Amino acid sequence: MGRRGVVLLGATGSIGHNSLRVIRANSDRLKLVGIAGGSRVEPLAAIAREFGVKHVTLFDQNACHDAKKSGLFDPDVALGTGIEGLNHLATLPEADVVVVAVVGTMGLHPTLAAIEADKEIALASKEVLVLAGKFVMAAAKAKGVQVLPVDSEHNAIFQCLNGAPNHEVARIILTASGGPFRNHTLEQMAGITPEEAVKHPNWSMGTKITVDSSTMANKGLELIEARWLFGMEPNRIRVVVHPQSIIHSMVEYVDGSILAQLSPPSMTFAIQHVLLYPERRAGVDQTLNFEDSMNLEFNPPDLLRFPCLRLAREAMQAAGVAPAVFNAANEVAVDAFLKKRISYLGIGDLIDHTLQKSDNFEPTNLEEVLDIDRSARRISNDLITEHES
Ligand code: NDP
Ligand code: MG
Repeated sequence: MGRRGVVLLGATGSIGHNSLRVIRANSDRLKLVGIAGGSRVEPLAAIAREFGVKHVTLFDQNACHDAKKSGLFDPDVALGTGIEGLNHLATLPEADVVVVAVVGTMGLHPTLAAIEADKEIALASKEVLVLAGKFVMAAAKAKGVQVLPVDSEHNAIFQCLNGAPNHEVARIILTASGGPFRNHTLEQMAGITPEEAVKHPNWSMGTKITVDSSTMANKGLELIEARWLFGMEPNRIRVVVHPQSIIHSMVEYVDGSILAQLSPPSMTFAIQHVLLYPERRAGVDQTLNFEDSMNLEFNPPDLLRFPCLRLAREAMQAAGVAPAVFNAANEVAVDAFLKKRISYLGIGDLIDHTLQKSDNFEPTNLEEVLDIDRSARRISNDLITEHES
């Protein structure tokens, strides 16, 4: 069996780190052929050296400039930058699969470029589908390219569906940990600081997604991600709070049987499943041990305390560009919260007000969605400035 060429966009991040653990342990099946990061030169250079990677992109131009002078990369390494650098990696002839794991929507263009070049997509960056799911999935369908979900919930659903026809599925049920503030009262939530919001009880992840998990905006983004990945109508996608993060999601079939996927809360299970798909092999993390007692708990989400989840569902149901507006406003809000410009509860308020101030319509091309993304960010930023003055 030949080795699959893997391109890893976001190699120095949390998903990147776990992907490297999977690639290291399966070096007879997988070969890292290209890596991209944002601005941190040294950790990216260390990965390039360890794996002998010859194609590297540092998105930040200054960082790329520094990298070229640093001597940290072998002379035969091709160093690229900017969106062209990401697109170059996404279309490398030696790549079979492209892992998209950069923060936010930066992964959109490389994802489309990779699809166009017939590469399989291992998608971690859910924001890409929330922004432009309609166009990404249409492109993948037209090219016959697989978009395999790395996000643990969607990977679980993909495994539980196992190719079942849509009409046999009653609903899909996304599990949510509920985050660190699951049992906080609204009064307690008002005073949450960035330092508290960047700690997650079960998962170790990048900053933005950790804050999103605490507000449940992450589960909101995942509702919309599921809608596109599985072609499921909004009212057939449910959320249940399951604090242990052992069941990663479930599929309920029309006959009442529910299938679940279980594993400890580590992203390596989903990443390996996707990178070796359809082959199964021993993993890199400890598996569940039923010799130990274990309780699994389920509760309905509280939409009053977690308005971001309610707003995401409403945006998904409204369809059109509403999900793109939700995503843009959330990104601006999280950034403003981390910079202490708005309060924790201000995140939901800002998304709500931005949605109210934005027009909704069915986009007919990608440019329209990108325009909306920009205008929603502008509206959110103006609202923050107004609030500060
Ligand atoms: P991190 O913040 O840990 O890592 C982000 C990575 O993206 C870093 O390698 C960073 O490089 C790189 N990066 C940032 N900006 C750019 C850019 N413009 N071009 C290229 N690379 C860039 O994030 P996570 O790994 O946690 O998350 C990545 C994506 O995966 C997100 O979309 C998230 O929603 C999704 N996801 C993450 C999960 C998790 O467990 N972490 C679970 C499910 C989904 P640098 O180090 O130089 O800044
Ligand atoms: Mg997830």
